[in-house]
Amino acid sequence: MEKKIAVIRGDGIGVEIVNQALRVLDKIAEKYGHTFRYVDVTAGGCAIDAFGEPLPEKELQKCLDSDSVLLGAVGGPKWDTLEGSQRPERALLGVRQALGLFANIRPSCLFKALENACPLKQEIIEGGLDLVIVRELIGGAYFGKREILQTEGGKTAYDTMIYSEMEVERIGRVAFETARKRRGKLTSVDKANVLESSRLWREVMHRLKDEYPDVEYSDMLVDNTAMQLVRNPGQFDVIVTENMFGDILSDEASMITGSIGMIPSSSLGEGSRGMYEPIHGSAPDIAGQNKANPIATILSAAMMLLYSFDAPQECRDIENAVEKALADGYRTGDIMSEGKKLVSCSEMGDIILANL
Ligand code: NAD
Repeated sequence: MEKKIAVIRGDGIGVEIVNQALRVLDKIAEKYGHTFRYVDVTAGGCAIDAFGEPLPEKELQKCLDSDSVLLGAVGGPKWDTLEGSQRPERALLGVRQALGLFANIRPSCLFKALENACPLKQEIIEGGLDLVIVRELIGGAYFGKREILQTEGGKTAYDTMIYSEMEVERIGRVAFETARKRRGKLTSVDKANVLESSRLWREVMHRLKDEYPDVEYSDMLVDNTAMQLVRNPGQFDVIVTENMFGDILSDEASMITGSIGMIPSSSLGEGSRGMYEPIHGSAPDIAGQNKANPIATILSAAMMLLYSFDAPQECRDIENAVEKALADGYRTGDIMSEGKKLVSCSEMGDIILANL
């Protein structure tokens, strides 16, 4: 295969971790006879410094002209005081919106070698932990009408959680399809006992479930889901939910795997193009020190191979190489524990490459 990949290194540790992921992609290309061409995109804080805005049109266009996008992280204290529309994070929303990326897929998998990094008791994680959260990404309260009003008694603010049937149906289909590729179990999370938007969400999901009789479907209220994730996370395979609930639950789910430096994610739209990124930020406290864990970004590149390029074998190959590095006792600082071998960001890259 021949693919053009837009590469947003971004800010902070973004440069270091993306460089390791590209080395891994190059090795995969060599091994399987593929060609990956990389197009550098300047976005985030570095684009504010270079061009005065987080996502210039010509940089966005490079993403639109590519088969997929790989992102490190954006942001940092240098740009923290800028007004909302000028902040580095705007670049992410800009790419998501322009590419119509409405589905965020975030796996939470506890690697056997990292079990002691999990904050839950051993008996709770005995059965393993391997779930995926499918989060709606461009609807709901984060995109609805919002306002702060001057009223008589002081200020009043509101946000509107809004969903159309079409928006629920398209994310629902991604979730059912994802469940089909995994263990065939889907939990739809809402707050249908209180919210109208959740009642519509549930109505559409129930309509869809009849089309996917091979998927074992259930509904769960969001408050109960937050509790079940720490009580018995092994019960979940795929969770589908709206934007804000997904934002919160996916951070909870990632925490129980032990480290933020381990978790990849992908954002998908109607076609095969997606944006792939680690769930963590630019980690300004360790930027430029070759200390960052590159695994989340390397696994994001693996997800790109699976979801955008339909290359499951190549994806599995990378996952196995990562698992072996951990099983052999290699750790970056964030996942270090007694008796293990501490390595730098680039050394972790070397070890994973060698395993490939
Ligand atoms: P963060 O995820 O950058 O860092 C939180 C903590 O986790 C830090 O101690 C950091 O050192 C550690 N950490 C994160 N990734 C790591 C890795 N790969 N290896 C080792 N340790 C790692 O979150 P934050 O400090 O709240 O945010 C820093 C900046 O990143 C902010 O400007 C924020 O807006 C931005 N941010 C960007 C994204 C994104 O680009 N998608 C996401 C979240 C935050």
